[in-house]
Amino acid sequence: MDEKKIPITRSSMPSYEEYIDAIKPLWDSRWLTNMGIYHRKLEKQLKEYLKVPEVSLMVNGHMALELTIQAMEFPPGSEVITTPFTFISTTHAIIRNNLTPVFCDVKESDGTMDENKIEKLITEKTVAIVPVHVYGYICNVEAIDKIAKKYGLKVIYDAAHAFGETYKGIGVGNFGDASVFSFHATKVFHTIEGGAVVFSDHNLYEKLYNLKNFGIRGEELVTDVGANAKMNEFAAIMGLCNLKYIEKEIIQREKRVKYYQQLIENIDGVRLFATNPGVKYNYAYFPIRICERERAYARERVYDYMRKFGVMVRKYFFPLVTDQVCFGDKYKHSDIAVARKVSKEVLILPLYSELDLETIKDISELIMQAVQS
Ligand SMILES: *Cc1c(COP(=O)(O)O)cnc(C)c1O
Repeated sequence: MDEKKIPITRSSMPSYEEYIDAIKPLWDSRWLTNMGIYHRKLEKQLKEYLKVPEVSLMVNGHMALELTIQAMEFPPGSEVITTPFTFISTTHAIIRNNLTPVFCDVKESDGTMDENKIEKLITEKTVAIVPVHVYGYICNVEAIDKIAKKYGLKVIYDAAHAFGETYKGIGVGNFGDASVFSFHATKVFHTIEGGAVVFSDHNLYEKLYNLKNFGIRGEELVTDVGANAKMNEFAAIMGLCNLKYIEKEIIQREKRVKYYQQLIENIDGVRLFATNPGVKYNYAYFPIRICERERAYARERVYDYMRKFGVMVRKYFFPLVTDQVCFGDKYKHSDIAVARKVSKEVLILPLYSELDLETIKDISELIMQAVQS
C-alpha cells in the first residue's frame, strides 16, 4: 500500500460547475436564507424522496433533534429512554431540553436499542423514547411502537445514519412521531451542514417553523423561546444538487460494502453486524467487530496497526456517551453491559463512493494481518 493516508470518509459533491451554476440566481435575488425558494424546493423534493408527509429543514441534525424534543413540550425533569451507543448529539439534545436521559442497553446483533429492555426502564416520569438507527441498522420499530402506545410515550428516532432507507418498503422516516436526519458533510446525503425533521402532524411543521426562527410569528410578535436553526440557501442548493445523485451514491457504496463483506466475513476474530432482509440500506458505514475472546484489547491492537499503515479507521462509538467526562459519574451505573461490550469491539473501516476496490482489498488484507498479529 502506498504512503498516502486513506480517510475514513470523503464527502460526495456535485461538479464544481454544476454547483456554481445552481447558486448563480442568488446574486440576483439576494435572498440568502430565511426559508427562501431553495429551502422550500428541497423540502418538497425530500418529501417525495423520503416518502414522508412533512419535512422541516434545519441548520444541522443536532438542532433538528433538539427543537423536535422542545416542540413536544415535555415537563422539565421528565425521563427520556435512549441509547448510550450513539453520537453525543443524541444525549445532548435531551439534556439541553432539561430532560433526564435513561439509558437502555442495545442488541449485540446490530447495536440498536434492545426493545426487550425498554419496559423495565419506564417510570411515572417517562415521556418519550429516542432510539437511534445506528449505522443505518433499523431499530425494531414495531416493538417500540407497541410499547410507546401502551404507555402513551412519544417516539423520536435519531435517523442521522438512515437517510433514504426503507423498511418493508416504507420510508424509514414514517416510524414514530418524528425522525431526525443529519445532512452533515460526512453523511451519505449532505447539505454541507444541515438536517431535517420528518413527521406526519402538520401542526408540528408550524411549531418547528416557529422554533427554528427564534419563535418569531410576526413583525411584532414572538410566541416561543426558539433558536436560530434555519437552513440557508447555499446549503439547500448543495442538497438539491446532491439529491440528484443519491441513488448512484448508494449503489457505489453498496458495491464497496459487499466487497468488504466478502473479504472480511471469514476472518477469524472478526464479526459483522446482522442485516435485516426487510431493509433497503444506504450503506452509510462499514462497522466490524474485533472480538475480544482470549485476547484483551484486540480492537485496540487492530486500530493501532491500521493507523500505522495510514488507514484512518475509527472507534465509533467509543467511549459510550454515558462515560463521557461532561457527565461525570451521573450515568456510569446504567445497566448497559452489551453496549459496553460492542463499544469495546467496534471498528469503522473507510467507506465512500470513490474508494477503489483495490484499496478495499489492501485494507482487508491488513485487517487479517492485524487480527493475527
Ligand atoms: C451526525 C449525527 C448527529 C448530528 O448531526 P449534525 O448534523 O452533525 O448536527 C446526531 N446523531 C447522530 C447519530 C449522528 O451521527
